[in-house]
Amino acid sequence: MVKNYMEILVSETIDDVIKDYDICTCDDCLNDIKSIALNNLPPVYFLSSTDESQKKAFLLDRQRKISVLAKVAEAIQIVSKKSHIEYSKKMRKSI
Ligand SMILES: [Zn+2]
Repeated sequence: MVKNYMEILVSETIDDVIKDYDICTCDDCLNDIKSIALNNLPPVYFLSSTDESQKKAFLLDRQRKISVLAKVAEAIQIVSKKSHIEYSKKMRKSI
């Protein structure tokens, strides 16, 4: 199976930071955060000849983690605004 290593990094980053945000963490919202962040980051695929230490180095690169974190934070902002709007619409309907 071909794996996008950027996707692994984004998932790990979301897991790390999501608890610091007061937002909905249902599957839809988490998938939206992941999709938005991944749309803003280049996909990364390794060839079969790549050894594990290179893959590990990719996932642990500090500079890369910082730029992924920035995109994840942006995506969280976008999704939290969206669900907030939907939430207030629902509230208005119920009144
Ligand atoms: Zn949600």
